[in-house]
Amino acid sequence: VRIAVPRETAPGERRVALTPEVVARLVKEGWQVRLERGAGAGAFFSDEGYAAAGAELVPREGVFEEAQVVFGVQPLEKPELERLPPGTILASLMYPQRDLERVRTLAERGLSALALELIPRITRAQSMDVLSSQATVAGYVAALIAARNSPRFFPMLTTAAGTVRPAKVLVMGVGVAGLQAIATAKRLGAGVWAYDVRKAAAEQALSLGAKVIELPISAEGEGGYARQLTEEEQRLQQQALEGEVAKMDVVITTAQIPGRRAPTLLTQSMVARMSPGAVVVDLAAESGGNCELTRPGEGVEVGGVKVIGPLNLPSELAVHASEMYAKNLYNLAKLLLKNGGLEPDWSDEVLAGALLTQGGQVRHGPTRELLE
Ligand code: NAD
Repeated sequence: VRIAVPRETAPGERRVALTPEVVARLVKEGWQVRLERGAGAGAFFSDEGYAAAGAELVPREGVFEEAQVVFGVQPLEKPELERLPPGTILASLMYPQRDLERVRTLAERGLSALALELIPRITRAQSMDVLSSQATVAGYVAALIAARNSPRFFPMLTTAAGTVRPAKVLVMGVGVAGLQAIATAKRLGAGVWAYDVRKAAAEQALSLGAKVIELPISAEGEGGYARQLTEEEQRLQQQALEGEVAKMDVVITTAQIPGRRAPTLLTQSMVARMSPGAVVVDLAAESGGNCELTRPGEGVEVGGVKVIGPLNLPSELAVHASEMYAKNLYNLAKLLLKNGGLEPDWSDEVLAGALLTQGGQVRHGPTRELLE
């Protein structure tokens, strides 16, 4: 059974879906792997490394030939989807809401599209969870961006030139990315505060040594996620946090509600009360931003406060982001192969949850509703 891995073509995407190490393991288990030449270059994995691991390297024209499975990071574009035979299994991030036209093409072409971001967040699927692995990377990079853009030291320093107080860093939204941002800022020596609407998140932040800001708003949703706040709750939240935010040198925001626009945690007036030189890094920029001033993919400066809305942070740490992503795919591949043959059990909770299109139909309920 053959897996194809084309080179990523999305602007700025440096990751690759499989690494030589994972290719070697897949080949050992009976897969054939064919990569487009240069597929790993952005993440510093050489064609020679893949060849030594047992992969075949071909130009783009040949990469999809005889492939029953295609692995990628970003979704394939329409012209390529139109060349794949019906029944081909695609596994990549799919962003169905961002491009419904692509979902239509996936369905019309009879492709079995697995959207990796839809893999259920259940214990058994943790090893395949690309949202978690890539959020870990994003949280780490966010803390570094904050440190690099702050005109202050993060750690406390006692020097002959005087004593420096540690920077005050607030992380809002303490899921996978937020926890990694907390851990990274702590390692750099900052004083770290954390805020989330879920109680479990507060406990995890505490265990990393952060101080927790507690408000009487609790918004535990389904499956370990937060629910959307009511307008009144959101107003109370902003009011209660305004004073805390004003004291911070750095605010890193990561709050998300699955399938919705990111909640607004920082209003324009809250940013106006921050000190000049303060930095906001908004990890939710891709889904609308947690700060009213965020411009996706840009940094803006308002009253001396920098508001940075970075996109695709995992790509900046392409080596480790790819290694983690590839291991997630390796674990997913185990669900597809049985006795050396391609035999996915589509009723398996993990595959069924991630299945976006199959057999000419859109299988993912919320996306189907958007299309109707
Ligand atoms: P996410 O990216 O959807 O959201 C990030 C954080 O934002 C969450 O902690 C959420 O509570 C918070 N948030 C949302 N609205 C907010 C608001 N108005 N104010 C403040 N904070 C707000 O979340 P995630 O990182 O993907 O993970 C969320 C949870 O799922 C975590 O508890 C995590 O441990 C759990 N999880 C479980 C598994 C698994 O079991 N396989 C895998 C991954 C994550």
